[in-house]
Amino acid sequence: MIRDEIIGVPLSQILSEKNFEMTRMFLMTAMRQGFAEKEVLLFRKGLGVKRWYNCRVIRAELGLAVTLRDIDDIKQKEGQLQALALTDALTGLPNRHWVNQQLPELIQNSSNAGKSFAVLFIDLDNFKNINDSHGHHAGDIYLRDVASALRRSVRQSDHVVRLGGDEFMVLVQDLPYAELASQVAEDLLSAMRTVSIDDAGGGIRARASIGIAVFPDDANTSEALIQAADIAMYEAKRDGKDRWMRYTTQMQTYLSEKVSLQAALEHAVPDNQLKIYLQPRVHAMSGHLAGFEALLRWQHPELGLISPERFIPLAEESNLIIDVGNWVAARTCELIAQWRDEGKTLYPISVNVSARKLKTPEFRASLNAKMRELGILSSQIAIELTESTMVGEDKQVQQELRMLESMGLKLMIDDFGTGYSSLAQLQRMRVDVLKIDQGFVQNLSSGSQGRVLCEAMVQIGRTLGISVVAEGVETQEQLQLLQAMGCDEVQGFLIARPMPAEQAVRLLDGRKFFEAVTAGRAAA
Ligand code: C2E
Ligand code: CA
Ligand code: CA
Repeated sequence: MIRDEIIGVPLSQILSEKNFEMTRMFLMTAMRQGFAEKEVLLFRKGLGVKRWYNCRVIRAELGLAVTLRDIDDIKQKEGQLQALALTDALTGLPNRHWVNQQLPELIQNSSNAGKSFAVLFIDLDNFKNINDSHGHHAGDIYLRDVASALRRSVRQSDHVVRLGGDEFMVLVQDLPYAELASQVAEDLLSAMRTVSIDDAGGGIRARASIGIAVFPDDANTSEALIQAADIAMYEAKRDGKDRWMRYTTQMQTYLSEKVSLQAALEHAVPDNQLKIYLQPRVHAMSGHLAGFEALLRWQHPELGLISPERFIPLAEESNLIIDVGNWVAARTCELIAQWRDEGKTLYPISVNVSARKLKTPEFRASLNAKMRELGILSSQIAIELTESTMVGEDKQVQQELRMLESMGLKLMIDDFGTGYSSLAQLQRMRVDVLKIDQGFVQNLSSGSQGRVLCEAMVQIGRTLGISVVAEGVETQEQLQLLQAMGCDEVQGFLIARPMPAEQAVRLLDGRKFFEAVTAGRAAA
C-alpha cells in the first residue's frame, strides 16, 4: 500500500463496513492492552483491489502506532496450500479432508433450511483385479475415468469426492424427497458402465456398490451419516455387488452381531471350538464309498452350533480365514494319519479352500509341512475350490493353484455351474473333479432346466476326462436320474448327512450305501 493512500485518509474509506466495526473493536483492544496484532483485508482505492495486510498496533502515549505489512502473496499461497490439502491429486476431486470440513457445514445449513441431503458411499467392485492384472498406471487412468464419469452424472451443485483408494462419495444437496437418492445411485451406476478398460477378453466395465444415507432421516451427524452409508455399501456388496442399498436400522443390528461374532471367532481355534464333520461321496453306480468332504463346524460355548455359511464369510473378511483354513488342513491330516495308524482302509478327504487363502503361499506351506510331518500321501487329500477362484484373474492365486497341483493334490471345482468357466479354462486348469452345484440337482425332478444343465455338465466332464460329482442329492428320483446320465459320484442327505469323525470311521468297512445298478438298468 502506498503511504499516500493511507496517510490522512479516514479508516472508513479503506475498510468495508463490516471490517470497520471489527477494526474499531480491535483498535480499542490495543488501546486497552497496549498491543494487538491481526490480519486484515484492506481496500486499495487506487487499484480498486483488496489486499491482505498484517497489522500490528502498539499504544504509544496517547495514540496508537500502527504497522502494516503486505502479506497478500503469502496469504494466496496459504490458500493454494489449503485447497491442495483438500484436493485429491490423482482425480482433482475434493478429498476426505474436504468432507470432514464441509459435511458439518452442510448439515448445519440443511438443518436451518429444513432440507434433506444424501450421502452416497461408492466402492468399486473390481478395482483390485484391474490393478493386479493391468498394473498401477492403468489403474490410475481407470480411477480418473471413473471420477469424471461420476462427476458428469450429477448436478453441478452436488459434490463428488474421492475418499482414497477405490472409494468415492457423492453428496446430493437439496433432496426434495429421499427416494431421489436411489435414482441418483442408478444414474451413477450406469454412468460408470461407460468406463471400461481394455482387456484381452473384451472390455472390463466399471462396477461399484453404493450405500445411501439420507440426512436427517437416517442420521444427523457427520460421523453417523458416513457410517450409515458405509454399512449400506457393505450390504450392497454382500447382496451381490453392482447395486445400491439404502441404510436401514436392521443393518446396524446385523453389523453389531457381526462384530461380536468376529470377536468370538478369534477364540475358536485356540479354544478348540472348531470341529470337522465328514460327508461321504459315493460311486453313483456301485454305491461304494468314494471319499469324504471335510465340512467345518463351530461349536460356540454360548451361541451353540454356528453354520459355516455364517462364519466363513466373516473369517474371510479378516485374516482369520488363514488360521481357520490351516486348522482344517491340519486336522484333516491328523485324522487320516490316525485312521492309517489304526489300519483302516483310507479314502481321500477333500477340504474346502477359499480364494482368500491362496493369496499368500502360507496355506500351501502349512499343508505341505503337516503332510510331511505325518507322512500323508498327496492322493489322500483333495482341494475344493469354487469355480470363480479357479478361473479368476488373480496371478497370485493362479500360481498357488499350480503349486498345489504340482504337489500331486487333486483339484475339485465346487459349486460348478454357478461361475463362468469355459471349456478351454477347465482344460488349462487341469481340474480333476467337477461338483455340480446343489441348485441344479435339486431342480432335477421338475423335469425342467435342471435336468438339461446336469446332463450338459456330465457331458462336459466326460469330454474332458474329468469325474463329475452331484452334490445335494436328497431323493431316490434324483439319484436314479443322475445314474442314468452317467454321473460318476453322488453326495447328499439321501446317502448321508455330514457327521463327526467318530461316526464316519464306521463307514470305512467297505459297505454299500445302496444297491448297485448296472449301466443297462440305469439307462432304462
Ligand atoms: P459346500 O462346499 O457347497 O458344501 C456342501 C454343503 O451342502 C454343506 O453345508 C452340506 O452339509 C450341505 N449338503 C450336503 N448334502 C446336502 C443335501 O442333500 N441337501 C442340502 N440341502 N444340503 C446338503 P455346510 O456344511 O453347511 O457348508 C456350507 C458351506 O460352507 C460349504 O458349501 C462351503 O462353501 C463352506 N465351508 C464348509 N466348510 C468349510 C471349510 O472348511 N473351509 C471353507 N473355506 N469353507 C467351508
Ligand atoms: Ca465343498
Ligand atoms: Ca458345493
